[in-house]
Amino acid sequence: MLKDRHGRTINYLRLAVTDRCNLRCFYCMPEEGLDWLGRQELMTYEEMLHLCSVFVKMGIEKIRITGGEPFVRKGFMSFLTKLSQLNGLQHLTITTNGVLTAPYVPELKKIGVRSVNLSLDTLDRNRFFSITRRDELPSVLETLEKLLESGIDVKLNAVVMEGKNTDDILPLVELTKALPISVRFIEEMPFNGGEAHQQTLGWDQVQILNTIKAKYPAIYKLVDPPYSTSFNYQIPGHKGSVGIIAAYTRSFCGTCNRIRLTPLGDLKTCLYGASVFNFKDLMRSGASEADIQAALYKALSLKDLNGWEAEKNNAALASLSASMATIGG
Ligand code: SAM
Repeated sequence: MLKDRHGRTINYLRLAVTDRCNLRCFYCMPEEGLDWLGRQELMTYEEMLHLCSVFVKMGIEKIRITGGEPFVRKGFMSFLTKLSQLNGLQHLTITTNGVLTAPYVPELKKIGVRSVNLSLDTLDRNRFFSITRRDELPSVLETLEKLLESGIDVKLNAVVMEGKNTDDILPLVELTKALPISVRFIEEMPFNGGEAHQQTLGWDQVQILNTIKAKYPAIYKLVDPPYSTSFNYQIPGHKGSVGIIAAYTRSFCGTCNRIRLTPLGDLKTCLYGASVFNFKDLMRSGASEADIQAALYKALSLKDLNGWEAEKNNAALASLSASMATIGG
């Protein structure tokens, strides 16, 4: 079992397979996109598979594939199929924007993907365009429909942005009436890949919950699953549930069980922290499995207590314009 220096079990890896994306969400990256990584800079699928197999042997039980948008990287499904066959891996999940995902849903089901996080900030086509700078709402809704048909669990993630989509909170909550999905509202984080580094949060978890409570006063708190990053709620009579992820307030760090790998092979032990080690370089220098293990143990022995400590120790965060697409959201 993997432990960090605070005694927390680490059993969850988030792996970003690309920094590229087919949307341009304004809170994630500039309209012109990012300075995309070159092919040589990215970890190859073989490198990722090797790393994952070592990490799984060490105690990682769950892997979430993210990005960028995973489905824009060529050969993604074939990589995912191989990953799904890793001995000892108990949960394989994906975070996707759903633009290209619908045709792959039957295959996802077949290889054993049991849950998918779908990012969707609004049900209004014009607002979708103004947030993502692309007119792709219909394809995302088709993905939602296909996922529901297939019986794959869906968590719908919406970033709440002052002046942009706070009118969407209630329509999104309304989806839980008939659909067995979890609709989760995420506090906006300061990772927009641009110059202006946002320092304050417009809408926090309290304001989001109060907005929902005003319409649904009978909403009640559910017991959160272990390691949950969301505070979960139920509206009586609704098939689905509602969650709030205090990504900026960072009130869930105490039970942190995760590590992240960026497309470059950088390991991050906290979303707000600096990269602590590069596994791609290590592998390309001919490292053995024992070298990889030693590097991961060392990184975990330095893991920050929480996102506030990590941010304080990450001088780059204040001056550099990080994007969730390069961090691995
Ligand atoms: N492309 C995939 C997707 O859209 O789900 C995976 C990568 S995306 C970076 C992962 C998640 O990070 C999305 O739900 C996105 O909304 C969220 N995200 C990106 N930038 C964010 C920010 N500044 N604050 C909060 N969440 C953010």
